[in-house]
Amino acid sequence: MDKKTTKVFGIFGDPVGHSLSPVIHNAAFQSLHLPYYYVPFEISKERLKEAVLAMTPLGIAGINVTIPHKETIIPFLDRLSDEAKKIGAVNTVERFNNELIGHNTDGPGFLKSLEEADIDLSGLRVILLGAGGAARGVAVSLLNANIAELCLVARSIEKRKMLKNDLCALFPNPKISEYPFDKNDFEPVPTLLINATSLGMKPDDPLPYRKERIDPVWAVADLVYRPVKTPFLTAAEKAGAKIVPGVGMLLHQAARSFEIFTKHKAPLETMKKALLTALNIP
Ligand code: NAP
Repeated sequence: MDKKTTKVFGIFGDPVGHSLSPVIHNAAFQSLHLPYYYVPFEISKERLKEAVLAMTPLGIAGINVTIPHKETIIPFLDRLSDEAKKIGAVNTVERFNNELIGHNTDGPGFLKSLEEADIDLSGLRVILLGAGGAARGVAVSLLNANIAELCLVARSIEKRKMLKNDLCALFPNPKISEYPFDKNDFEPVPTLLINATSLGMKPDDPLPYRKERIDPVWAVADLVYRPVKTPFLTAAEKAGAKIVPGVGMLLHQAARSFEIFTKHKAPLETMKKALLTALNIP
């Protein structure tokens, strides 16, 4: 890749001001002396199509996609990676040979954070709380990684049934089941319990699962990354479980996007330092 060509990357979302992606990607560009810039673009639902169509004439080289556009952007792209097709959502758009290609790095980023925490997925039961976009991405990656069983627990009956049906069509094995959100009495067999709801972002949110029902042999992951150690993770740690904070997924999904955008190996330590500084973690 020509190191001298200035390129613009960015993130499309609404709201987008809270996104840490500009900080992470700009730190990575600087550390590799790439003349690239990463900009937040606040794009309303109504203007998404116009914004995507403008990427090519403006020469925007790639974008990340966040709430509320991860699914609605798909019709405006030329094609999707296999992962994004299965998930039905996109968080990274690469412009390559004037084609817009949608990828999803959320699930692979989550798996990488589990690997760093030494969690062996083979033969494990997974309880996944939530049935939104992030839950979908995580579920597809987990099923690709040979877990033994997936239990979907979510508030909206319609969404959890739809997620179950979509996953069963893609993965006839293993067993996939769905339960209402107040199901808190799973057997204490080795389990990975994942919070993929937005509960935990606000200080007065209830815990997404009863802390008394968290078994010490379980591992508990939270996709919420602000605060870094959520009340749910604090409760799980107290119960003796191994915990996996969402900041690891955030870092690794960004690293994968960076590699798709630039074809350079992501400077992971630089990106991690920028992320932790932005989150005020010494
Ligand atoms: P989303 O599509 O809006 O889904 C949110 C999910 O949370 C839905 O299943 C929703 O249920 C559920 N929920 C919200 N409030 C609830 C409540 N009071 N009780 C029960 N369920 C509730 O959002 P998303 O994109 O999947 O994101 C989910 C979380 O993951 C967010 O906190 C986001 O910041 C985080 N995330 C983290 C990363 C990372 O890199 N660490 C990446 C992506 C997302 P209903 O459908 O019933 O409303």
